[in-house]
Amino acid sequence: MDHYAVFGYPIQHSKSPIIHQQFAHQTAQTIDYQAFAVPAEQFSSALDNFIAQGGKGLNCTVPLKELAFLQAHHLSDRARMSKAVNTLSIDVSGKLRGDNTDGIGLVKDLQDNQQTPLQHSAILILGAGGATRGIIGPILEQNPAKLVVANRTVEKAITLEHEFNHPILGGCGFNDLHGLHFDLIINATSASLSNELPPLPADLLAANGSCYDLAYANQATPFVRWGQQQNAAKSIDGLGMLVEQAAEAFYIWRGMRPDTQPVIQALNNARDV
Ligand code: NDP
Repeated sequence: MDHYAVFGYPIQHSKSPIIHQQFAHQTAQTIDYQAFAVPAEQFSSALDNFIAQGGKGLNCTVPLKELAFLQAHHLSDRARMSKAVNTLSIDVSGKLRGDNTDGIGLVKDLQDNQQTPLQHSAILILGAGGATRGIIGPILEQNPAKLVVANRTVEKAITLEHEFNHPILGGCGFNDLHGLHFDLIINATSASLSNELPPLPADLLAANGSCYDLAYANQATPFVRWGQQQNAAKSIDGLGMLVEQAAEAFYIWRGMRPDTQPVIQALNNARDV
């Protein structure tokens, strides 16, 4: 049996094992996928152990994506651009290939599952951490009208503007958002995890605009509730992205594309109760 895992800290609430087991069941494959609590200082030794035990692939989540990027021997273009790796493939000689499936997962959930087109849209990303690094490139590939990254620590947003160096991309602080309007606002801060909301001007969301929180929870997150209060056409959390980024990792590892719809449906049903 081939072994896969997700490393992160904390990890106890991870849905990745159940998602990958459902993908394996659907595609009639026998794999083992487990979640391990790995703090940053133990990442290197935990990775060595996993490779020594014959592990085939690894997902990395907070706070390990930048460390996984540094450990990879080979990188996909999207991982190189984002400087963050959420999917490692381990070859027979123990060499690591790093990829980042977060961006494609978000784009698929927005465009295919939520019918929210990105082309020609004015898009705002809140936050400038690892997740934002992963989603900027795939969003730019969809040809939006403009893309603004706003962050609490303004310098980090400016750094991303310079690194990605794209004519429609800008970086700023939350205070600079007054008077601007966006068709899609993506919350890629971790504020929802501590039940907080970035400070946002009331008229930030354009008429018929949508809100998307990368974080997900059993109840509506503070940002999803904010979007509802702004009469957003859609205000949704990142559960669909979680499943879509996992499907892309599964495809990288197993060469088969699972059907994400029943898995998203099952996870949505489980949190309605
Ligand atoms: P990071 O720790 O790398 O970055 C966190 C970001 O959030 C920083 O920009 C930080 O600002 C900002 N921030 C934190 N707290 C606040 C606050 N109270 N108010 C305003 N800004 C705040 O995290 P990631 O980028 O890796 O993850 C971000 C979120 O995305 C998490 O909720 C994570 O769970 C989610 N995620 C979901 C995925 C999915 O599949 N659905 C995939 C990947 C991530 P500053 O720079 O000033 O500190």
